[in-house]
Amino acid sequence: MNNLTPMLKQYMGIKAAYPDAILFFRMGDFYEMFFDDAFTASKILGITLTSRGKIDGEKVPMCGIPYHAAGNYIGKLVDNGLKVAICEQVEDPKSTKGIVKREVIRLVTPGSVINETDIDEKTNRYIAAICQDSSNNAQKKDPAFGLAHADLTTGQFFVTELSSVSDLTDEIGKIDPAEVLVLKNGDITGIKELFRYHIETIEDTLSLKDAESILKEHFKTDYSSVSECSEMTNGIIAAGILLRYIKNTQKTSPDHIDKITGYRVGEFMILDETTCSHLELLKTMRRQSKKGSLFQVIDKTMTPMGGRILKRWITYPLINVEQIRRRLGAVAAMKDDPVTREKTREYLKDIYDMERLNGRIALGRATPRDLLSLKASIQKLPLIKEALKDSVSEFIADLIEKMDLLHDVALTIEEAIHDDPPISFKDGGIIKEGYNEELDNLISLSRNGKNWITEFAASEQERTGISSLKVGFNRIYGYYIEVSKANVHLVPSDYIRKQTLVNAERYVTEALKNMEETLVNAEEKRISLELELFEDIRQKLILQSHRIKNTAETVGIIDVISGLAETAEANNYVCPHVDNTCKLDIVEARHPVIEQTIKDEAFVPNDILVDDKKQQVLIITGPNMAGKSTILRQTALIVLMAQMGSFVPAKKAAIGITDRIFTRVGAMDDLTRGQSTFMVEMNETANILRNATPRSLAILDEIGRGTSTYDGLSLAWAIAEALHDLEDRGVRTLFATHYHELTELAVTKPRVKNFNVAIREWNDKIIFLRKLAPGATSRSYGIEVARIAGLPETVIKRAKEVLETLEGTALDESIRPHIGISETENRDNNATQLSLFDSKDIFLRDWIKGIDINSITPLEALTEISRLKEYIETNS
Ligand code: ADP
Ligand code: MG
Repeated sequence: MNNLTPMLKQYMGIKAAYPDAILFFRMGDFYEMFFDDAFTASKILGITLTSRGKIDGEKVPMCGIPYHAAGNYIGKLVDNGLKVAICEQVEDPKSTKGIVKREVIRLVTPGSVINETDIDEKTNRYIAAICQDSSNNAQKKDPAFGLAHADLTTGQFFVTELSSVSDLTDEIGKIDPAEVLVLKNGDITGIKELFRYHIETIEDTLSLKDAESILKEHFKTDYSSVSECSEMTNGIIAAGILLRYIKNTQKTSPDHIDKITGYRVGEFMILDETTCSHLELLKTMRRQSKKGSLFQVIDKTMTPMGGRILKRWITYPLINVEQIRRRLGAVAAMKDDPVTREKTREYLKDIYDMERLNGRIALGRATPRDLLSLKASIQKLPLIKEALKDSVSEFIADLIEKMDLLHDVALTIEEAIHDDPPISFKDGGIIKEGYNEELDNLISLSRNGKNWITEFAASEQERTGISSLKVGFNRIYGYYIEVSKANVHLVPSDYIRKQTLVNAERYVTEALKNMEETLVNAEEKRISLELELFEDIRQKLILQSHRIKNTAETVGIIDVISGLAETAEANNYVCPHVDNTCKLDIVEARHPVIEQTIKDEAFVPNDILVDDKKQQVLIITGPNMAGKSTILRQTALIVLMAQMGSFVPAKKAAIGITDRIFTRVGAMDDLTRGQSTFMVEMNETANILRNATPRSLAILDEIGRGTSTYDGLSLAWAIAEALHDLEDRGVRTLFATHYHELTELAVTKPRVKNFNVAIREWNDKIIFLRKLAPGATSRSYGIEVARIAGLPETVIKRAKEVLETLEGTALDESIRPHIGISETENRDNNATQLSLFDSKDIFLRDWIKGIDINSITPLEALTEISRLKEYIETNS
């Protein structure tokens, strides 16, 4: 391959440094891709595959796209999990001999997309980095994993540490990063939960010392003064890896990332990944859509910042009563003052994504119009401040008092940037007149030049006597004098012929040529001066980056608060009382999402009381579709909403702080996860038993359904018991089950209480009452429902018979449950009845007893014997 053209040689050199990225090679007004990149990209982008030149007689495959449309194409490739290296001409082709120098100026990866693709404005786009315990810095007590995550578009940067794989995957699940950086030699690459993220393997690890110096250099302060970080090691390494990666891909310093926020998982209510998905906090399980999620129902924010902060509040609820009350107080103040709320929301509506605008400025990606958007947003700030200055909420008052109005930033933009700049930088017109003297001179030069041309045309008409003579301009020939063929004989001798058209001749004169040069020079100078000035302004703005970011966050929080107030008003929510007890006392609770979506019936509210004294484990029975799962979920959602600082869908609610919500859903009910097996369900249950505290809330929905009835029932029984007995104090638990046998637990366990969601039968229809009532369900409901559903009467009758025999083992006189008695108890009490597990003997006895020897034919007798035999064989 030594017959490469110089251009291809250059290409190969650059490509070698980016083997795993699609290389966008700038050629004039196009980006071109070659070889395998061309195959891959042309397929994904749906563009034509052609070729450019040959190597060793073979055509070089190539495809290309116009540079000005590159954004969409890059976005598409990245959405397909690819990386794109953008290689530009870094010299002016006009002033270079030979081949133009080219360099990769940026690497676009799934996590570092800025404006190449439509990124949802209310969603953060995070890159995460994981550092696993490595021997060189491991002190045994350190948590095993460091996790850092950042949103390059907004400049947020977080770091934490986690002690187990499941904590790690839960946290990553909440962050939902677009890209995860993983060290090459860590075992972590084997964690299958990570496979669904875009994984980027990092070759070189980082020592703690190097990580520290990377961070110190960038943040310019001692990051370890951030108290949450001072103790971290793996967290710091992860942060260093992440920052290094961002710098390497952006090829510039991300100055808007100016703060590292350390946190500990236990500072917030812990929500594992399954719980977030079961509760459908940000998206639904079935379609992964925003519609039908808690977020969608309560989100009435007006700005992208607000939307993103609301998501964070939902996934990181607080556990500190004071902090929660501060938020609730703010929402209450906003709710009680509709005029102020309305005004505030009106101003917020006109505020753009200040956070991402700030990010684009820092990364050198902002357009003049972006600056105007920032200015327009800043201009609304005093109005918001004025509207909220008398707020009765301490939280709002603090926010408003600290809010930086960024007057100087707006002024910088106002003075310099033209009010209606063109979209493209190329033709100038960005900078206002009066901002820079040199620029003003160039502008007036071109303006005078244009006047000169007009006058020149007039004087030439007079001089030559050709009234149709005109002066024109085109890109190739520049300025020219055009004379029609009929008048050519009148042309003076100092005209120099330039171009011949069908009906006319074009000329120049010495004077016109000179003026053209002046004009073109002025224009070029003007454009490059404007770009220089724009860069200057950008640098000025970067220095204010942290202030802009802080204000953007304040605006976002005000937006969330006023949005939650609006939701509370619109959906008729109440302010929850939050305290440090273990009591959940919710009157007329509703499901925030279902109440908005059901159409043909009104939502029936339910009271729920859970505490750690009398009523801790609620066993909720009732037929299918009765509303059990809804009650479970709404309770969890109300607790979560209260602790994030939102009002709740109820008439009254007292919420004792919950440190963690667990939700487990039986295999059959968990339709959407499809592959969710019984094993997964049991894994998750084991996790509850290991980690739950008396402050936790466990939601168990149809646990034990994924296995045989007896297995499932036995496990459900044992799990419910264990939750009641955990650490001798128990866990607040809502347990929905179709095993009505579990209701017997209430007999032996003092804090277990039975409830049922009843249905009524009326005119052969089932009426769902949706009412939670104390006590166990009537056991025959299943059979009743089957009857109403139209099962033949004979089958119903038979089912009832079977049921009766099974129930031959009802409670004995001493009201002892007949199942779930432990061996020790058995030994102490020899009088125990037959357990449920012996019931098949009773069943057999009754069966044989029921055969009427006098009326049976020999053939029927034979059949009966064979059925008996089959029963014994399959049930022994
Ligand atoms: P279960 O878990 O008992 O089978 P679900 O809780 O899944 O029942 O409820 C089934 C459906 O009944 C829900 O999708 C909802 O449409 C409706 N529903 C449940 N609870 C209520 C209620 N309190 N008021 C009105 N409709 C309800
Ligand atoms: Mg259910």
